[in-house]
Amino acid sequence: MRNAAIAFDAMSASAVALFTDQGVTGYAFDSIGRYGKGALLRERFFPRLLAAPPDSLLDRHGVIDPPACARAAMANEKPGGHGERPGAVGLIEAAAWDLRAKIERLPLWRSLADYYGTRDAGATIRVYASCGHFRDDRLLADEVARARDAGYACVKIKVAGTLEDRERIVALAGGGPLAIDVNGALAPQIAQRWFAAMAEFRLAWIEEPAPPLDYELTRRYAELTPAPLATGENLFSYDDARNLLRYGGLRRERDLLQFDPLLSYGVAEYVRILELCAGWARRQFLPHAGHLFAAHCVAGLGLGMAEAAPEATLPYGGYWDGVRVQDGCVKIPDLPGVGYEAKANLFALLEHR
Ligand code: MG
Repeated sequence: MRNAAIAFDAMSASAVALFTDQGVTGYAFDSIGRYGKGALLRERFFPRLLAAPPDSLLDRHGVIDPPACARAAMANEKPGGHGERPGAVGLIEAAAWDLRAKIERLPLWRSLADYYGTRDAGATIRVYASCGHFRDDRLLADEVARARDAGYACVKIKVAGTLEDRERIVALAGGGPLAIDVNGALAPQIAQRWFAAMAEFRLAWIEEPAPPLDYELTRRYAELTPAPLATGENLFSYDDARNLLRYGGLRRERDLLQFDPLLSYGVAEYVRILELCAGWARRQFLPHAGHLFAAHCVAGLGLGMAEAAPEATLPYGGYWDGVRVQDGCVKIPDLPGVGYEAKANLFALLEHR
């Protein structure tokens, strides 16, 4: 399985569990599509968390405070140069959120909404299916049809950033909202013709046409695109998000921001980014990932839409066991924390150690 930029054969992932003396365990599972962070966690971030004075990790009610855990993990880290560090710290913060919500006996989204005072939080969220990796083109139409049959309204597929993309898309046209993901691979010399060719499809959005850190090219593509431009999944910090907003030429009434809280130091940093984007409506935020944690962030912070790999038989696909997608929406079950325990194939991985 591959997208326009990379293959996934050797992809790894990290799982984190925070155990407490009270017998409550908080879990986190990686955002798929990046490699595991075990070395960083073991060498720097777990030792700092374990060395922190316990009271420094609690809020004023004596409940574990996830942003405080992330701050403890980040002690003596230089600013800037974010690299893979944000994903390691994000896992610790996410596991602390699962723990906190379980102690509060709340679903995570409710705990997040209370913590950050979200006005329009709710258990029902919009979702989209992310599929159409490069495997076998004969399977593509089936895969998309299966996602729509499963209840997804909007479906996103991978494209190559070449003029052959038109053929790949035209075979799917008319089935419902379709988004395409270029994974940074569009060749600048064909960009003008490529965007013009995309105009016939009324795409829901065009994702990452430019390499993630090339803000000048992003700005040029933002002028050429006939559809909303979506990007941000490979920016892992407030600093990088600010540069995108300053220089990327994105339009708040049209474009979509896909920062992934789990890859970006956690929810506290993500909320700083939301505050930075004060002129943007929350519905313009579509966190990358397709993980259960991101679904709770969408619900608890009132964001636009969550991503999902539609194959529920995979540990990182679908949602909680028994939860169905209906008319492009999912209702998060009323379970404490993230509810990893209610997705059997994923929980089997989390328990395995
Ligand atoms: Mg993408």
